[in-house]
Amino acid sequence: MADSSLNPFLRAQQAFKEAVETLNLEPAVYELLRQPLRFFEVAVPFIRDDGTLQVFTGYRAHHNDALGPTKGGLRFHPDVNADEVKALSMWMTVKCALLGLPYGGGKGGIACDPEQLSELELERLSREYIRSIASVIGPDKDIPAPDVSTNPQIMAWMVDEYSRIRGENTFGMITGKPLVIGGSAGRVEATGRGLLLAVREMARQINIDFTQSRVAIQGFGNVGSVAALAATELGARVVSVSDKEGGIFNPDGLDIKDVLAYKQVHRNVTGYPQSEPIANADVLELPVDILIPAALENVITADNAGRIRARIVGEGANGPTTEEADNILFEKGVMVVPDILANAGGVTVSYFEWVQNQMRFYWTEEEVFRRLEEMMGAAIEAMHDMHEHYGVSLRRAAYLVAVDRIAQAMRVRGWLR
Ligand code: NAD
Repeated sequence: MADSSLNPFLRAQQAFKEAVETLNLEPAVYELLRQPLRFFEVAVPFIRDDGTLQVFTGYRAHHNDALGPTKGGLRFHPDVNADEVKALSMWMTVKCALLGLPYGGGKGGIACDPEQLSELELERLSREYIRSIASVIGPDKDIPAPDVSTNPQIMAWMVDEYSRIRGENTFGMITGKPLVIGGSAGRVEATGRGLLLAVREMARQINIDFTQSRVAIQGFGNVGSVAALAATELGARVVSVSDKEGGIFNPDGLDIKDVLAYKQVHRNVTGYPQSEPIANADVLELPVDILIPAALENVITADNAGRIRARIVGEGANGPTTEEADNILFEKGVMVVPDILANAGGVTVSYFEWVQNQMRFYWTEEEVFRRLEEMMGAAIEAMHDMHEHYGVSLRRAAYLVAVDRIAQAMRVRGWLR
């Protein structure tokens, strides 16, 4: 797989190259995928609270729109730069195609430190950014969403600004909105829920009875705690969870609702009565069927991969497994459900939000989760089939499914010669 010593943009290019070669596709597929079709860099001027003018740099990438309008988050962070935005838009293309969403990949952001901005400054900056890119976004063109340091309130200001520019309410131009202005039920739980549904379908594919399985989860935040709750709801036994202060373990299974209530009071899971303490690193090596790293990147490395005893690893976090560890786990026959699929519940429910906005008809949470289950299940199946057909890791197989679909779309649209 892609050399992890490269920068994210070069790594994304290498992953596309490998997929095009494995599938024996026309070289033009790679030529079209190796960079965004369109990339915008904009100066975003805004007035500080003290009346001075400051200009930040904003970006928006449309990587590939063969399958539909581009879709992807907006990040506000000092490290945002052109290469990062391009790479993230490439990953979004893969994610959307893999999940069967009628979208291409996009991404954007502003190089800024939101912690240095007042609430009013954040609002002015968000509105100015939308003014700068208004002509290249829209519900049938490119649909942003929240990412690092952006949230439903920022999406609300942005949809308001865009609607003012257009002179009409255009809720479908952005997702991750507050419920009252066209957000979707289930959006907050989407990533954790989708992760668990993906892992459960993976278990089914390799004949593990999910209801008899033991689960360990590193990270008990938005993703980890929702996945833990869904796991117990769907009949598995969650024997360990952890947060940054450490973990808790109970071989008979933890009462996750009770652990959540405990965490609300004590801020961490450590000290929870019906459990033994366990170090964060040891959570990863427990004798469980399913391991879910849902905290940080690079926690499964060449050092500990050999000691992982789970049969399925569901990557809730982005990039929790290093490339060396990935190879070790593949040799051991551990099924690593890659982040690109495992944490795609968020973008899938974003898609549902956009569909509901276009229809102006809103679904219940139950309906959202039912459709999420269908889409995660289909993606797991397609990836698993590709894994069996080519004898490659699930991560590589995920790229093969996605690139094959995008290439088909580009071919019938007449982009390839
Ligand atoms: P969060 O901040 O809500 O939770 C993070 C959890 O990890 C917390 O329980 C924290 O205590 C724990 N943690 C921090 N340092 C730790 C350490 N050293 N050891 C063990 N636990 C530690 O974040 P989240 O939204 O749940 O996101 C978790 C991961 O999932 C991140 O990698 C994020 O990029 C990824 N992700 C999140 C979403 C989403 O929709 N929230 C979507 C895609 C990917």
